[in-house]
Formats: sequence, structure tokens, C-alpha cells
Amino acid sequence: MDIKQKIEELRKALQEHNYNYYVLDSATISDFEFDMKLKELQELEAKYPEFYDATSPTLRVGGMVTKNFETLVHEHRMYSLDNSYSKEDLEDWEKRIQKILGDVTVEFTCELKYDGASISLTYEDGKLVRGLTRGDGFQGDDVTNNIKTIKTVPLQLRGDYPSKFDIRGEIVLPFEAFEKMNLERIENGEEPYMNPRNTAAGSLKLQDSALVAERPLECLLYSVVGTNLGLSSQYQVLEKTRSWGFKVPTVAKLCKTTDEVMEFVDYWDIHRHELPYETDGVVVKVNSIQQQEELGYTSKAPRWAMAYKFKAEQVSTVLEEITYQVGRTGAITPVANLTPILLAGTTVKRASLHNADQIEKFDIRVGDTVFVEKGGEIIPKIVGVDLTKRSENSLPTQYIDHCPECHAPLVRTEGDAKHYCPNEYGCPPQITGRIQHFISRKAMDIEGLGGETVELLFKEGLIENYADLYTLTKEQLLPLERMAEKSAENLINGVAASVNIPFERVLFALGIRFVGETVAKKLAKAYKNIEALMVASVEELITVDEIGQRIAESVVGFFGNEKNLEILKRLRAYGVQFELSADKLLNQTELFKGKTFVVSGVFEKVSRDELKKMIEDNGGKVGSSISSKTSFLVAGDKMGPSKRTKAESTGVPIISEEDFLEML
Ligand code: AMP
Ligand code: ZN
Repeated sequence: MDIKQKIEELRKALQEHNYNYYVLDSATISDFEFDMKLKELQELEAKYPEFYDATSPTLRVGGMVTKNFETLVHEHRMYSLDNSYSKEDLEDWEKRIQKILGDVTVEFTCELKYDGASISLTYEDGKLVRGLTRGDGFQGDDVTNNIKTIKTVPLQLRGDYPSKFDIRGEIVLPFEAFEKMNLERIENGEEPYMNPRNTAAGSLKLQDSALVAERPLECLLYSVVGTNLGLSSQYQVLEKTRSWGFKVPTVAKLCKTTDEVMEFVDYWDIHRHELPYETDGVVVKVNSIQQQEELGYTSKAPRWAMAYKFKAEQVSTVLEEITYQVGRTGAITPVANLTPILLAGTTVKRASLHNADQIEKFDIRVGDTVFVEKGGEIIPKIVGVDLTKRSENSLPTQYIDHCPECHAPLVRTEGDAKHYCPNEYGCPPQITGRIQHFISRKAMDIEGLGGETVELLFKEGLIENYADLYTLTKEQLLPLERMAEKSAENLINGVAASVNIPFERVLFALGIRFVGETVAKKLAKAYKNIEALMVASVEELITVDEIGQRIAESVVGFFGNEKNLEILKRLRAYGVQFELSADKLLNQTELFKGKTFVVSGVFEKVSRDELKKMIEDNGGKVGSSISSKTSFLVAGDKMGPSKRTKAESTGVPIISEEDFLEML
């Protein structure tokens, strides 16, 4: 079989599987088989770039970097929706419509109002050509590269689609994925994201599409615009677009009467909490497209549609006590302890108060009857105080000024909303938190040791920092509660094995504030060993890709601390990895430091990926498009003519594969 045919077959098969899996929710092959096919296609595409296709399923994995999102005009304006907050509002709207349309039957399609980031996708000849954010409704940002990584966005349509149209919908992040992301952030010592909607919107604007690909975003669609589409009703739009391969939620209902509309509203006001993603209302639309056209638009919204907003569920209960939690980095979080109450299907006992400012803003006091809401945020929040119920002798809340765990005076730096306990080495939750982070899966991944055991070991005086883990003996462990011969052995073996964990993960494990997994990788790559990193100044650190002032200061602060230096010295003596391993260092130089290369075309001696790796291994950067900042264009065979023209016009030197290898 010829290569082209093979590539096309693989693409087709993968598209089919994607559709079955993500849109129909029923897989037809195993994940393993899918991955094998995808890998085969990736390899073929890398080898034969002449068969490039902008809709290939391999684009799902991302890797395209967008530095500046281009602003483009929407061919059809993206309108907003009018809102109603009561059934009376909704009934009034229906009467107005009936009056304009006269004595005809009006039917309605009811849909849920998905709370995500609006998107408009353009398809031409069945292929996705563009994805724009809503922006101001007239123009939005071109986020096509990022959109292509979202599995529920079809890159190639199926069935009898019109030759050109725009389709609108929302990009949402399901609750489960959102919570998982937040757990990871908390583990990394980062602030959790506020709500799924903002996180979804933020994801669309990430520069590296490979990061977008890692986020389980979904695209839910609800409307089509264009000319000569051959569609006569909103309900038909939903059914048709579903058959073209789009993920169109099936909860929509065609309602013949206003009563049926209200039934839909009532039902989903309760049952929406069972959905995997966030919704904030119902959108009622006149079903007939002809009637829609007759009704037209106001300056802001269609007259033929109306959003009914669900009330964020709110209850009132008594604030019994304010307690304060100390995190691994010493950050203090005030927590409201409430008289338990049922809210949105779960019993709520606690609510986050965020920080001192928040408490002051609402003048929240112990003993107050407070209003608690579960809105966009997952953790319930206090939205106000019922002042009519406040007792006469209530006193304003005095925010703590000493750590509740170790009694050290708290500090608060300019511009930071949180208070911190500065007693890093004497504050129990900080000590155990740091050790728990050190042993966690993504850090040193120490088997046979868990968070509770860390607390126990600390309480028994056996460990005070993570270096102490390496000196634990069986004799020390055996007397402990629930510690048998076998589990003690496992623990010791697990600790011993961790000396093989590579440097970049060790760096993450150290628990330097703001140094998460990615930052640790960047630092390890840039400095190669801990000695070099230890002496780096803030000015030097911020020249490293993605390292800002805040991170740089934190790193310098960490290595400026005597206690840390001593712990590091001990870890080194136990054999923990403090430099990049030999194979990672192999052939690495600083030769191309500060230089950016764009690679294009097909090469003879090395593959394109190998070439890119050679650039990065030698300290250079690989860019995706030519600009005045590009140092060289490495031109292979069959390079696109536009790249050559661009390079020539911006004066970027064009070099051949041989030239490049010679430079090395
Ligand atoms: P708002 O942002 O409150 O003005 O609400 C209008 C937005 O709701 C629209 O721009 C859409 O992005 C969004 N929306 C969510 N679900 C739907 C739906 N089923 N039909 C129409 N718009 C929707
Ligand atoms: Zn403390």
C-alpha cells in the first residue's frame, strides 16, 4: 500500500474512534490499540511531512505554541442573551413574542445554559478552519491551535454538512477534572483555581497547546450560523449538528406549551447538580427559524431567545467558630465552622473565608447567622451576614496575629492577601507538610510511606525534616503503632530506593515555594546541578524561560537559608541525585544559548525531531514561526515557500542541514 493511502486510512480510523469515544461515549477499541495507531501515524507524518493535514488526529496532542493570539472579526456577530430571573419574566417574554408573531403556534426548544467559555468554530468543506473566542461579540481571539486539542471538537465532519458555517458553543471543564487539577495545585503549593469556568477560559489562552491538550476540556454546541444551511428549526439544528460529529447535549427538549417550558425549568433547577459540568440556567429559544428571523435582534441579544437564570442555592446558618489552617508553605486559611445544613444536595459544615480582607469586607463575626452559597465555586462560600439576627453584644472578628499551631507572630507581605507563619522549621503542619510533599508520588515517590505515618514519625520525635527519613532504622520503627516487620522493611527500602529519583524531581520534592513540577524541570535543565543553581542570583534566574521575579526570589531565599543548606548536604551524603543524569547531559552544551531556530522541511541525515532536540540540548530554543527574533531558519527539502519569503524579508539567515551540523 502506498504511504499516502496508509496515512489517510490511519487518520480515518482514528477520527472514527475519537467520535465513538468522545461523542457517543462508547469505545470500540482499547486505549492501547488507539495509542499504537496514533503513534504509527505520528511517525509516518514526521517522516513524510508532504502529507501534512490541518485536521489530522495527531494535532490533538498539541505542541503548537501561540505567542500572541490574533484578533479576528466574527463573520457573524456573537450576541449575548437577555436574562430573566423569575417565571413571571419568562411568561411576559412569551406574551411579547406571541404579540409580534400574531396568531400562530409558537414552539420552544429548551436547553441548558452551560457555564463555560463561549467559542465560535468555522468549518469549510467539513474541516475545522478556525476557532475564535467570543471577545466583545464583534471580534475575538484566534485560539485555533488550542481548540484542535479538545477531543470533542471534530476536525473533520461526517454526514451531510453544509459547505461553510460557523457553530457556537461553550468550552467547559467538568467538575471532576477541575477538582483533580486543584488537588495537584495544592500539592505543588500553588493557589487552587477559583472555578471551572475561569479555568476553561484561561486554558484557551495558554500559549503552549500541549498544556491545553492535557486538560480534559469539552466543547458543547448549540447553534449554527451561515447562509443556505437548509435548517428550519432549532431542534433540528441540534439533531443535525449531532449527526455531523459535534457533541450536542441531549437534555434539550422541544416544548409545545409554556407549561412544558416551566416543567423543564423546574426539573433542571434540581437535577442540574447531577450533571458532570456547570450550568447556570435554561435557555428558551423560539423553535422555528422562520419565526426567529421575523423576531430579529435588539442591539444586544436575539428577541427569540431568553435565558432563565437559576438562583445560586443559598441557605442561612449559624457561624459557630472560625478556625485557622496552616498549609505546608505556612499560608493561613480561615475556615468558617457552621451549624450543619443541607445545600445543593450535600451537607455543609464548613466554608472557606479565604483571608482577613474577606472577613473584614463582610464584617463576619462568630455567632452571626450567615448566608452560604454554592455558586460557581465548588467550596461553599459565605456571601453575607443576616444583620437582623446579630446579637447586641457581638464583637468584630479579631484576625489572629499568631500561628494557631506554633504561636509564632504571623507576617503578611505587601500585595499578598494571605498571612503566613514564618516559623518554617518549628511549625508542625509546615514540617510534616513538607515531608509529605517530599515523599509524594510526583516528587520522591517513596513507597511504603504515607502521610499519616509521617505525622506519627514526627510526633514520636523520629523525624524533623526529610533528610531524617534516610537514617530511620528498623529498631526505631518496630515499636510504633501498626508497624510490623514487613511494613518497617518496606518503608526503609522505599526510602533507600528514592536515591535513584532524577534531579528534576528532587528539585520539585524540596518544596521550594512556587517551584512546581514544570518550574523544577526548567531549572534543572538550565542549571544542570544543584551547585550551579545554589549560587544563581535573582537577575540570572529570571533570564530562564518561565522564571519570574517571585519564583527567583523564592529560590534565592531557599538556598540562602543555613538550615536548608545543611539538609541538602545530608541528602547528598545519602546519595540523592543532585545533578542531571549522564544520559541527559550527554552532548549538552551552551553553544546556542540565546538563539532561536525555526526548523522547516524534510532533512536527510537526521529527523526533524532529532534536529529540534539537538538545538535544545545545546541551549537553543525552537520557535514555530519566523519573526525578527529568529536567529536562523534551518531549511530542509520541501520547505514551504512562505517561510522562505518571510525569512528573506525579515533578514533571518537561512541555513541548510549541513550548515547546522557543522555549527555543532
Ligand atoms: P450571558 O453570558 O449571561 O450574557 O449569557 C449569554 C451566553 O450564554 C451566550 O453568549 C452563550 O455563550 C452562553 N450559552 C450557554 N449555553 C447556551 C445555550 N444553550 N444557548 C445559547 N447560549 C448559551
Ligand atoms: Zn506556625
